[in-house]
Amino acid sequence: MPVKTAVLPADDPAAIARAAEVLQRGGLVAFPTETVYGLGADALDAAAVGRIFAAKGRPADNPLIVHVAAPEQARALARAVPPAAEQLMSLWPGPLTLVLPRAPVVPDATTAGQDTVAVRIPATRPRWRCCACGRPLAAPSANRSGRPSPTTAQHVLADLDGVVEVILDGGPCAVGLESTVVDATRPVPMVLRTGGLSLEALRTVVGAIDMLSGQDPEAMSRSPGLRHRHYAPRARVVLVAPGEAAERGGSTVAVMSQQPRPPGFVGEWKVMPTALEGYAQELFAALRELDAPEIETIVVETVPEVGLGRAIADRLRRAAER
Ligand code: AMP
Ligand code: MG
Repeated sequence: MPVKTAVLPADDPAAIARAAEVLQRGGLVAFPTETVYGLGADALDAAAVGRIFAAKGRPADNPLIVHVAAPEQARALARAVPPAAEQLMSLWPGPLTLVLPRAPVVPDATTAGQDTVAVRIPATRPRWRCCACGRPLAAPSANRSGRPSPTTAQHVLADLDGVVEVILDGGPCAVGLESTVVDATRPVPMVLRTGGLSLEALRTVVGAIDMLSGQDPEAMSRSPGLRHRHYAPRARVVLVAPGEAAERGGSTVAVMSQQPRPPGFVGEWKVMPTALEGYAQELFAALRELDAPEIETIVVETVPEVGLGRAIADRLRRAAER
């Protein structure tokens, strides 16, 4: 049944109280985090979590990240906290999700039946307030499944108007990419998904860390989200090397490049920031903006795969998958 969606300021106590009331009765609230906007529900209420999957059209085998306000709240969701996970928790609050052995209190709906649970403390003020309803919040990105993640309240509204009861508007997200997901249940922690916290930053707190390889079916099965189509605009996305977009012009073409528009180029040309932090912040908004009805192809020049560039390149590759 459609609901009336209210967009309310994330720093208004009355809005937070309304959001807490919605969450307490099992409803859905979209809220800003430093990564992207999340679509939240009480993580310990299987029926509420089921509403997230329905709202997004999310495949039921793709587990959710649980957002908490404090490390103790994370520990309460885990059967055990391995030493490497304790070390990695020192990077919270921040764009880092830890996969831990699941405690029985977490319902199957939240973990998609996995024996592990993914948790993080987001680095935004609403974490206190949303979690002020006292419950951990299961929250995937607040987009329809498969679409680019939302980094503004307007993006959430475009995808989920009439589906989510409250959208807390906290302005554009500071990081702009989803969290880095690390499986901390292995003897050597493994990055399952690159994201807003770089490999270099992880290495400052843990000595050894592995990266999930596409060749490792066991690890792939542990991160089901990676199998699904993601981040895709309606237009076809084509990746080219830096400097090559200039030859791809046309009236139905839009380009994302870190270079200035070449003279005489026909089509849209979006200049992306040279600094990878700025690029990450603008990435999903740019994909949505360029996805205009007249555009058939979005040509994207790739970025160097260092630091945040790994996560940006991953999102671009998956946006280009058909
Ligand atoms: P999203 O919330 O859409 O950003 O996606 C969450 C990501 O975290 C997906 O890639 C999931 O597969 C991954 N994830 C969530 N829970 C787990 C878990 N228990 N084990 C492994 N990966 C997980
Ligand atoms: Mg997502």
